[in-house]
Amino acid sequence: MCTIEFIPSVKVKHAKGTTDNSEVWFDYWLEHVKEDISKYQSWHCECCDLDVPINKMVGAHVVKADNSDDTIYIYPTCDTCNKTYKEGKADDKEFSVPITELIPLPD
Ligand SMILES: [Zn+2]
Repeated sequence: MCTIEFIPSVKVKHAKGTTDNSEVWFDYWLEHVKEDISKYQSWHCECCDLDVPINKMVGAHVVKADNSDDTIYIYPTCDTCNKTYKEGKADDKEFSVPITELIPLPD
């Protein structure tokens, strides 16, 4: 018998009015989820649902789409998504991510 661990997912969208040092935040995220990316060439962007080269991934600032808390979290998306869905367009796109991979932005 095998047990599949169920990790709940949560809908998020890009946060508004955040600063753009996103490469740093990808590293921050990797550190916290303890992911070793040295073996990866590409990454699946949950936001646009495409596989993109790993060096095009950034740590996006996201918020929960249902606004159930005020916290800003870090979650990786591709650079294109991060640049597309900001300010006025941030509300245009929602995507689901595993709740355990949302890393709160430090104060
Ligand atoms: Zn993307």
